[in-house]
Amino acid sequence: MLKLEAELKNDYCFTWDSSCLCVFSLRSNGSMSFPGNDKQQVIQARRQFLQRCGIELEELVCANQIHGCQIVRIDTPDKGKGAFDKATAIDSTDALITNQRRIAIGVLTADCLPITLYDPDTKSIGIIHAGWRSTLQRITSLTIERMQQEFKSNPKNLRVFLGPALRCCCYQVKEEFLEIFPEQTSIKNGKLWFDLVAANVSQLVSLGVENEHIVDCRLCTSCRKDLFFSYRKEGSTSSRFMSVVMLL
Ligand SMILES: [Zn+2]
Repeated sequence: MLKLEAELKNDYCFTWDSSCLCVFSLRSNGSMSFPGNDKQQVIQARRQFLQRCGIELEELVCANQIHGCQIVRIDTPDKGKGAFDKATAIDSTDALITNQRRIAIGVLTADCLPITLYDPDTKSIGIIHAGWRSTLQRITSLTIERMQQEFKSNPKNLRVFLGPALRCCCYQVKEEFLEIFPEQTSIKNGKLWFDLVAANVSQLVSLGVENEHIVDCRLCTSCRKDLFFSYRKEGSTSSRFMSVVMLL
């Protein structure tokens, strides 16, 4: 199903099955975030990227992400929120869920981990913007619990895709991480390194997600600066790439 390296030219797009589409943009698609960029240019970049994957920009919903743990259920009237500007985006939210077809829920990242969830049984999806702060607030666990409440999803059925993010090869952290993430922080060459992906996988597995249902693209945004934007590697860049999941 996944042939990442071969596909990584303009954008990356795959289907779990005939009901669910997952995509993420690349550096070559342009920046997908509004702050610090020309609005019309961002709209055009978003439209071109999504259209190539069979999604209309009007079908997109984005949130104003704040590294918190609020999760919002999206329904048809929300379509288009945050797609054309930041002002209409779902406020102060880092995870979106829906069971409605043709609503493309998206997150913007540069180093944080984008996680997409798909339940083929109840036909429901979720997407998470997981930075270390949200991870500490258990956003991944909370999103699955919310899908259980709202859609009766069984974690054993969930298909999970872990997108490009800053990996432990490049994620150097301060000493406080030894206390807040003792199991995912390691020492190498006298420096501390954090495994953001492992911290989220541990939340997935502890809620009952099967290991064989977790697909990790294994791409590091810092190692692969040619393909992605990296906040760490490039300093305070305003560029972000977009990850999207949609029920067909
Ligand atoms: Zn790396």
